[in-house]
Amino acid sequence: MDFALSEGQEEVRAVIRDFSESRIKPMARRIDAQSEVPFDILRELGHRGYMAMTVSKAYGGAGLDAVSYSVVVEEISRVCASTGVCVSVNNSLFSDAIYRFGSEMLKHRYLPPMGDGRANGCLALTEPEAGTDFGAARTVAVKDGDDYLVDGRKIYITNGGFADAALVLVSTDPAAGSRGLSIVAIDRDTPGFRLGRREETLGIRGSDTRELIFENCRIPQTNRLGEEGEGFRVGLSILDGGRIGIAAQAVGIAQAAFDEAVGHAKRRHQFGRPIGEFQGVSFKLAEMSVELEAARLLTRRAACLKDTKQPYATAAAMAKLHAAETAIRITDAALQIFGGSGFVCTPENNAERYYRDARITAIYEGTSEAQKIVIARSLLKE
Ligand SMILES: Cc1cc2nc3c(=O)[nH]c(=O)nc-3n(C[C@H](O)[C@H](O)[C@H](O)COP(=O)(O)OP(=O)(O)OC[C@H]3O[C@@H](n4cnc5c(N)ncnc54)[C@H](O)[C@@H]3O)c2cc1C
Repeated sequence: MDFALSEGQEEVRAVIRDFSESRIKPMARRIDAQSEVPFDILRELGHRGYMAMTVSKAYGGAGLDAVSYSVVVEEISRVCASTGVCVSVNNSLFSDAIYRFGSEMLKHRYLPPMGDGRANGCLALTEPEAGTDFGAARTVAVKDGDDYLVDGRKIYITNGGFADAALVLVSTDPAAGSRGLSIVAIDRDTPGFRLGRREETLGIRGSDTRELIFENCRIPQTNRLGEEGEGFRVGLSILDGGRIGIAAQAVGIAQAAFDEAVGHAKRRHQFGRPIGEFQGVSFKLAEMSVELEAARLLTRRAACLKDTKQPYATAAAMAKLHAAETAIRITDAALQIFGGSGFVCTPENNAERYYRDARITAIYEGTSEAQKIVIARSLLKE
C-alpha cells in the first residue's frame, strides 16, 4: 500500500500550487468581499486544461486521473473555495458526466470547449420541492416529434449564471416517479431558457448560485444522457464522482485554516509566551492535524478506487461526510485560536472566510445526512 502521490501527481500538485499562490490567492479576498465570479481566473484555468481533467485527450480533456483531480481542487480551494467549487462543478458535474454517460455526438460537442477553457457547465438537479429527494423532480420534458419541450424551474445551481450549457434532470414520464426521470443537455441560448435570481450566500461568495427557468424550451431528444428513465441512476452516479471534488474542496479549506492557526499559535503571545505553548491550544492543533490527514486519505482513497475502476460510491460518501464535518470543526477551532482577530474581518487572517466557506461542504452534492443514508444502505443491503 503506497500512500504517496506518484511523480506525475506531485508534478500536477506543484504546478497548480504555484498558479494558486501567484494568481488566485491575491484575488481571493476581493472575490469573497465583492461576491465576484473570478471569470479571468476560470478562463485561464480552462486554457490550462483544468476544466476537463479526467476526460481523455481524444475528446480534448487533460487525461489525468481522479487522484490528480482531487489534488487540484484541494490546492485551489486552499486559497479560494469559490474558485474551487467552480472548477469542481465544471469537472465532476459536467465534463466527467458527459464523458461517462454522453453519446459520441454530445462528447464531441461539449468536451473540447470545456477542455480548452472556451466553455463552462453546470448540473441542475435541485428544485424547490426536490432537494435531498431529487428523485421527486417536477421539471417536465414532453415529447414533440423528435424533440422535448422542457418546462420547470431549478434552484441553487452552481455556475448557473454563466454556464454555456446545463445538464438538467427532467421527468420524461411523470407517472413513473423517479423511474421516469432523464438528464438532458440544454444550451444557454435555447429559446425559453432564462436565468432567475442569483443567491446571496454565507460562504463561497464568488460562486454563482442561480435559479434556472425553462419555459417551453425545445431541445432534440438526442440531447439526453443515457436512456429515457435512467436519469435518477445517472444523477446519483454523477454525484458519486462529484463528492470526491467536494471532499477535496473541504480538505483544502481546512488545510488553509489549519496553517494560519499554527502560524498564529507560534506568533501570538499571552501571559509572556506563545499561545501554542498552552496545552489547551497545542492539543487542539494536534487533533486538527489528525482529522485533516484522515480526511485527505479518505478523499484520495475514493479517488484511487475510481481510478482503478472499483466501486467507489460508499467511499466517496465517507470521504465527503468526514471531510465536510472536519472542515467545519477545523475552521471553527482555527477561528477560536485567533480569538477576537478571527471574528473580525481583518487583512491579517482569513479565519472568518474559511469558517463561512466550510459550511456549504456539508450541504451541497448531498447533505451529511444524505451521505449517511448512502453509507448505511451499503452496510445493510442483503
Ligand atoms: C451554494 C449552493 C450550491 C448548490 N449547487 C447545486 C448545484 O450545482 N446543482 C444542484 O442540483 N443543486 C445544488 N445545490 C442544492 C443542494 O444540493 C441542496 O440544497 C441539498 O441537496 C439539500 O437539499 P435541500 O436544500 O432541499 O434540503 P432538504 O432536502 O429540504 O433537507 C433539509 C434537511 O433535512 C435533512 N434530510 C432530508 N431528507 C432526509 C432523510 N431522508 N434523512 C435524514 N435527513 C434528511 C437534510 O439532510 C437537511 O438537513 C446547491 C445548494 C447550495 C446552497
